[in-house]
Amino acid sequence: MANIWISQAHIDEIITDIEEYEPLETGGAFFGYVAADGDYVITDLISAGDAAKRSRYSFEPDQDYQLSAMARLYETSSGRTTYLGDWHSHPVSSPALSRKDEKTLLNVALSKEAQCSNPVMMIFGSHPDKWSMNCVKFITGKKRIWPFYSCEHESIKVVID
Ligand SMILES: [Zn+2]
Repeated sequence: MANIWISQAHIDEIITDIEEYEPLETGGAFFGYVAADGDYVITDLISAGDAAKRSRYSFEPDQDYQLSAMARLYETSSGRTTYLGDWHSHPVSSPALSRKDEKTLLNVALSKEAQCSNPVMMIFGSHPDKWSMNCVKFITGKKRIWPFYSCEHESIKVVID
């Protein structure tokens, strides 16, 4: 099973962001690379952007902002780092994926723009403790006739470095 590596500084940045917007959801994207052994290594965080939409039970990033931030990071690293997935908060619940989260993960995995066939989704929940972490990696899935879909994912261990 793969691990995902993230620095304590990035975790602190995420928690600060979560507590600034609590009780609204917030989130962001991960940039980095997949190591030879399959581990994910986060090198940069991409914030939600000014036009992000936050409510108690939903969060939508400012996609235009995120795409341009990612293009800059991709260029700066000469293509060595790329989009790895996203994180978001569940300020009033556990960090389990909701059905909507599964659909979002599936859509990201299937989208050509993201160019990431196995994106991760990291959720920070307020139960049982603040901030309980849950991270999954997309394995496979399919869109079926609306509203049916399948989204298979597995837990990925977060290693704070
Ligand atoms: Zn969620």
